[in-house]
Amino acid sequence: NFDMLIVGGGPAGSAAAIYAARKGLNTGIVAERFGGQVADTVGIENFISVKETEGPKLVANLESHVRHYEVDIMNSQKAVKLGKDELFEITLENGAVLKSKSIVLSPGARWREMNVPGEKEYRGKGVAYCPHCDGPLFKGKKVAVIGGGNSGIEAAIDLAGIVQHVTVLEFDSKLRADAVLIKKAESMGNITIITQAQTTEVLGDGQRVVGLQYTDRTNGESKTVELAGIFVQIGLVPNTEWLRGAVELTPRGEIIVDSHGQTSLKGVFAAGDATNTPFKQIIIAMGSGATAALGAFDYLIRN
Ligand code: FAD
Repeated sequence: NFDMLIVGGGPAGSAAAIYAARKGLNTGIVAERFGGQVADTVGIENFISVKETEGPKLVANLESHVRHYEVDIMNSQKAVKLGKDELFEITLENGAVLKSKSIVLSPGARWREMNVPGEKEYRGKGVAYCPHCDGPLFKGKKVAVIGGGNSGIEAAIDLAGIVQHVTVLEFDSKLRADAVLIKKAESMGNITIITQAQTTEVLGDGQRVVGLQYTDRTNGESKTVELAGIFVQIGLVPNTEWLRGAVELTPRGEIIVDSHGQTSLKGVFAAGDATNTPFKQIIIAMGSGATAALGAFDYLIRN
């Protein structure tokens, strides 16, 4: 039996594990894939105090730091259910049931993909999902933002300050972003907004993105835009489908946490991209992992 069982081995779960182990707690991590989204990241330039690193390198550092303590890492294991008997119970896909006095949920999230040819091939080579992370790589170049919701228009405004020009492509006939954001975007000289545009292909030269193709849904015509980067902003989906009914989620599926990282179920804490904490970043996920572990520690010493 664990004192603290953590579901998710990304930056949030790793931070929670280190904080828990350093309190002398019997700590376990269940992870479908240790490292999480960081394992898919090419360059990281905003992990404070490290000028530049790469995803796999940061994952290796995370793992060696966690392994420095007595943490039971159960990698390649998927949690499918959270229940409670005397102790909390996490059921794995293989049928095993793990028991713990407290839980930290940090299953992260995944960016919704366009699912068009070229997207996977050029991921990290012009296809990007995070303007805070990759915006500066496109300084002085032309980029597109796919998606005209709040995150898309925020991304366009953010990028317009760095890049030469931003084209926003929205599938629908109108933008779904807040009016103030749309007004701000329209006031900027280097943002073009195209609605009724269905992106159909990412174009590349074998090395990097050189453009994209979309269908003008008003007349079915296929059009090409030349650019160096494509920011896909069509939604971040939390990996919380299996938690529905167990803890309170927002309509978008984010785990609702309080200032101590506690969920609606006492003794169950959560951290990182899977929660309703704003801004999805490595450093923020780590901070919230520490908060959740300390919150859970506080719970354990009182119960
Ligand atoms: P994740 O990293 O998503 O980790 C989730 C963990 O939970 C994984 O181990 C996963 O396997 C596991 N898991 C999920 N479901 C289950 C389950 N049911 N059972 C067991 N385990 C489960 N942020 C930056 O700060 N800087 C950057 O430069 C940057 N670049 C990025 C580039 C890309 C391509 C992407 C996708 C993201 C980038 N981000 C960047 C965002 C950053 O990676 C995330 O904010 C951060 O990884 C979130 O950490 P997390 O621990 O909450 O979740």
